[in-house]
Amino acid sequence: MPQKKPFITLAQAKEIAADIPTPFHLYDEKGIRENARRVNAAFSWNKGFKEYFAVKATPNPYLLKILQEEGCGVDCSSYTELLMSEACGFKGSDIMFSSNDTPAQDMKKAYDLGAYINLDDLTHVAFLEKVAGVPKTVCCRFNPGGVFELGNGIMDNPGDAKYGMSEDQMAEAYTRLMAAGAEQFGIHSFLASNTVTDDYYPKLAGILFELAVRLHKRTGAKIKFINLSGGVGIAYRPDQRSNDIAAIGEGVRKKFEEILVPAGMGDVAIFTEMGRFMLAPYGALVTTVLHQKHIYKEYIGVDACAANLMRPAMYGSYHHITVLGKEDTPCDHKYDVTGGLCENNDKFAIDRMLPEIDIGDIVYIHDTGAHGFSMGYNYNGKLRSAEVLLKEDGSHQLIRRAETPEDYFATFDFSPFFKK
Ligand SMILES: *Cc1c(COP(=O)(O)O)cnc(C)c1O
Repeated sequence: MPQKKPFITLAQAKEIAADIPTPFHLYDEKGIRENARRVNAAFSWNKGFKEYFAVKATPNPYLLKILQEEGCGVDCSSYTELLMSEACGFKGSDIMFSSNDTPAQDMKKAYDLGAYINLDDLTHVAFLEKVAGVPKTVCCRFNPGGVFELGNGIMDNPGDAKYGMSEDQMAEAYTRLMAAGAEQFGIHSFLASNTVTDDYYPKLAGILFELAVRLHKRTGAKIKFINLSGGVGIAYRPDQRSNDIAAIGEGVRKKFEEILVPAGMGDVAIFTEMGRFMLAPYGALVTTVLHQKHIYKEYIGVDACAANLMRPAMYGSYHHITVLGKEDTPCDHKYDVTGGLCENNDKFAIDRMLPEIDIGDIVYIHDTGAHGFSMGYNYNGKLRSAEVLLKEDGSHQLIRRAETPEDYFATFDFSPFFKK
């Protein structure tokens, strides 16, 4: 099987771990910047193109600042994500607010920041008017229902998804918003997650471009942007092929030329809202082997657990594992790699062929840069890990300290015992 290559060596990992104890999530600044530049180049044919990084994937201000320097905006869906973005200096059209089941406070905050507000439902038109006001530009989220298919089969099931509105509701929303003073509109849709095919965005773009032409004809609404949202995946497995973002951008350009340009809508801006594709491969969970256990199977116990990376336990997701310093050792041992939660699903890998592992080895869990740390939780009183940035010059920087017991107890006012 082809191997995936870690972005650090054992020597580098040891150097960082001497300063910041494992476990920690490590991010690769160089990889992040180069990838963001490839994304911007792939869509440079579109004058108004902007990637709005999905903050929920990796809510760390240091990483948001790197993406900001590369020309990205942010996609927020909650009050605290808006606050973090504000603190990083994002404002106005740098922010998309794509929420659902939205609290009034969140809607008001997005309005006050001048964000592009993406309405998830027709009833949110009146809600927006009531709790905040109607901005000049408003976006609506589309759900076509049914199943979403690509050449290779069913990708996802929008008809079962809670998000967005039907075409008739979109038209009604635009009409009501225009009556309330809105002048320009966006269209947003997210139809499939973690797609590993260059056809997803082009196919989605075709659907949304045709919808834009129909909505414009039907309501007279001026369409300012079309947001393809997230869903562009990465190759978590070593035998998977990676998406080619240049080919994806070119596929979207063809649909744009075919559908929007002839309709006189060649000035529409393309937005994306990727999380996973922007950061997942440029983050890793670095963890140390604490124990080995031999019962009916062979277990390796590490100092991280599902509270630091939930995807394997929650979705059965594959994350590739490299034992640092043993990159070239044959993978002739079969292990379950586990954390210490009192939950049998707390396993980073099951029946994984790996080199023979010793206590104290440093294990590198790949592709945790998005939906990794951010999905963490405190079950079993486990504390969230640190986040560390590997800078372009090879030095490292602590960009979030690990939680301490004081953090865990901070929301009690129970006993002086918990106060430092
Ligand atoms: C989660 C999410 C994204 C990012 O999805 P990825 O799969 O990480 O690209 C973008 N937009 C919205 C509205 C989301 O909920």
